[in-house]
Amino acid sequence: ANASTLAVFTGRGTTADGHLVPLLANVGGAKDAVKAAAAGAEGVGLLRTEFCFLERETEPSNAEQVEAYRGVFDAFPGRKVVVRTLDAGADKPLPFLTDATEPNPALGVRGYRTDAASPGVLERQLAAIAEAATGSTADVWVMAPMISTAAEAAHFASLCAAAGLKTPGVMVEVPSAAVTAESILREVEFASLGTNDLTQYTMAADRQLGPLAALNNPWQPAVLQLVRLTVAGSAAEGNGKPVGVCGEAAADPALAVVLVGLGVSTLSMSARSLAAVAAVLATVTLKEAREIATLALRATSPGEARERARGKLPILEELG
Ligand code: PEP
Ligand code: MG
Repeated sequence: ANASTLAVFTGRGTTADGHLVPLLANVGGAKDAVKAAAAGAEGVGLLRTEFCFLERETEPSNAEQVEAYRGVFDAFPGRKVVVRTLDAGADKPLPFLTDATEPNPALGVRGYRTDAASPGVLERQLAAIAEAATGSTADVWVMAPMISTAAEAAHFASLCAAAGLKTPGVMVEVPSAAVTAESILREVEFASLGTNDLTQYTMAADRQLGPLAALNNPWQPAVLQLVRLTVAGSAAEGNGKPVGVCGEAAADPALAVVLVGLGVSTLSMSARSLAAVAAVLATVTLKEAREIATLALRATSPGEARERARGKLPILEELG
């Protein structure tokens, strides 16, 4: 990559015509957060809290949780930090929450679904997040993973309200959530598309299986359609509540442009991808991003969608 191009990233993601697209980081704890802040991330779009406790056999105490979350908030004073509640299960088992004997863990009791089986863990986590947020200047948002229905979103929002957390949201990573985004967004303040799982569940292709990688591609037109539907659900809901993306798709500069063109308002990615995404986004106007998104949506294969988008983004040649 060419240093002068990458230097374009000054800490504010924007299109060529000044439409701001905050570029946030995905982090797994305080160490990551410090690195992400140094890389210029405008905030945290996804704190994977389960990464703080992967080795644990038992539920972390309130003090341990408060310390883990506060470490991340302290790296982003005055900035937005989106905390995801424990996404245990499937590829990330937590012994105190998940049942290792399930035949299909990706379709099992994971993420928000563990609340019914292990009552109290989610409430205690929300209380710890609220406690960590008190005394920090970070703008703390909270979201639940693996939400499938509006009823689940409403229940999560009620638990957040009881904990004193004012900005509840959900991940959209199950196709049913994308399709019913309008009713889900009536219950919560924002949505964040988890394109890794959304792709896996849309294509019915295990994200961990190499032989299925061609299906497991976020450029799949079906996945792009679900992104479009989610944004449309937000617009229909009335006040256009924010819809971000926090899956790996946001880290692909050409796909990031497509996502912005589809109406996504923030992009969250691993910190190392921020500069390239910022550089490419800065070369297109919002109108051009919309046109590129339309071209990609009309493709009939992920390869065609990607080639169509890349063909409109000459800067990608320079970035290599
Ligand atoms: C996703 O599914 O896209 C996501 C961001 O969550 P995770 O990768 O942690 O499942
Ligand atoms: Mg996920």
